Amino acid sequence: MLDYTHKDWKARAARIAFRGQAFVDGKFVDAVSGRTFDSINPATGEVLAAVAECDAADVDRAVAAGRRAFEDGRWSRMAPGDRKAVLLRLAALIRANLEEMALLDSLDMGKLVTDAATIDAPGSAHFFQWYAECIDKLYDEVAPTGPGDLALVRRVPLGVVAAVTPWNFPLDMATWKASAALAAGNSVVLKPAEQSPLSALRLAELAAEAGVPDGVFNVVPGFGATAGQALGLHMGVDCLAFTGSTAIGKRFMQYSGQSNLKQVWPETGGKSPNIVFADCEDLDAAADMAAFGIFFNQGEVCSANSRLYVERSVKDALVEKLIARAQATQPGDPLDPASRMGAIVDEKQTEGIMRFVEAGTITANLVAGGKRIRIDGKGCFVQPTIFDDVGQDDPLARDEIFGPVLSVIAFDTEAEAVAMANDSIYGLAASVWTDNLSRACRVADKLHVGTVSVNTVDALSAQTPFGGMKQSGFGRDLSMHSLEKYTALKTTWIKYRS
Ligand code: NAD
Ligand code: MN
Repeated sequence: MLDYTHKDWKARAARIAFRGQAFVDGKFVDAVSGRTFDSINPATGEVLAAVAECDAADVDRAVAAGRRAFEDGRWSRMAPGDRKAVLLRLAALIRANLEEMALLDSLDMGKLVTDAATIDAPGSAHFFQWYAECIDKLYDEVAPTGPGDLALVRRVPLGVVAAVTPWNFPLDMATWKASAALAAGNSVVLKPAEQSPLSALRLAELAAEAGVPDGVFNVVPGFGATAGQALGLHMGVDCLAFTGSTAIGKRFMQYSGQSNLKQVWPETGGKSPNIVFADCEDLDAAADMAAFGIFFNQGEVCSANSRLYVERSVKDALVEKLIARAQATQPGDPLDPASRMGAIVDEKQTEGIMRFVEAGTITANLVAGGKRIRIDGKGCFVQPTIFDDVGQDDPLARDEIFGPVLSVIAFDTEAEAVAMANDSIYGLAASVWTDNLSRACRVADKLHVGTVSVNTVDALSAQTPFGGMKQSGFGRDLSMHSLEKYTALKTTWIKYRS
């Protein structure tokens, strides 16, 4: 697959049979209303598929199916080793269909197909495998009560877990939620983002093929204000795992308060700082990763390193290296392995990015990119863009742009760098570049974020939790800690004659 040419990928894309129906209770079905919406390829503007437009009626059906499955125990009371076998089969099926899974995300939201084929789709298989392998190795507790009393403290599944996910990593965001929630024994109702529902629907089909029983994994594509809100307010949803914007994360907390006090786990926006000190010995590596940290996935990454704080003595040298890297990262057809960046997810997001860029050209110093472009006369593409001399209070340094736009700010002292890095409503991730070990540890300690990467950016693995502080939310995906979100502690106290 990695030796495919542009022509090979196009030929394979043309052969895909898109699944556009909702997946409820083990079957593909139309929306109750019969309505559909178009799934669009942002690289071309073409309609890929008509997708079921689910609303509250479909959510009711999916939640009821999830509840029936949970109550009769077809999954929730399956032996952990048997659930493991099913999820391992699902991981294998994702690997067997890697090319299609990669194409679905690339076509639907514009990411490079080579990234989708080497990062997103293998990642999805890996995360399902990882949680599958966990679940028959988790032991519970016996409380130290003394003779005559046996108190078992167990982690039990919650029931119906709803997941509402964004479009930037459609398959992986669905996977991060569903893999852990299913492994823990819950039923899942997933609402993928309306911009990119196709991979989630295929995932549900593969899950059924792997042996996930009917009703245990349901996918209800649709819009946020209808299907998303119906899940948030549903009296039969026990837990809502959300990844998306901070504004909507807050709304889900309100939905919970207005309904059944369901657990809500928001993982929301970011404006992650990347701090480069002059004592970082490999400035080329810092430049490579700073560029990757903002241009990978068109900058549509919640933890994108969008604020670059550089010690003044090396600022000009680093910016020069970054300009060269920006120029080498030109967007192109996502299906062309020669392209270095893909398309922005849709017209609305592209226009939003361009508003920030246009305002920034007045307040800061545009040193690379800055233009919207079209490929073969079509599509939503933005050049990799760098602003130097950005003010700390400029929207370029404050707001999540969610596009390939880097803001560079110089600093003079370590304390100043830490203060500016922490001066944000967000706290998802941060990076620090230095070869001074004490400084690395000291600065890492002071940054109010969920993950600090030292001499790299965006360190992430199945083994480590991912999530934020402050208004980046408090949910944690990945690692065994994610299972805590999808289970409740339950005490069973047994009195016996001793
Ligand atoms: P969004 O909040 O607009 O949408 C996310 C999801 O919420 C979608 O499925 C959408 O349909 C749904 N939604 C929208 N309005 C809703 C409403 N009123 N009620 C219920 N549901 C609603 O975000 P987006 O633009 O799709 O994604 C980009 C955002 O996601 C960025 O802010 C980014 O930082 C964040 N993100 C965060 C993480 C993380 O792990 N912290 C990961 C990826 C993306
Ligand atoms: Mn789309």
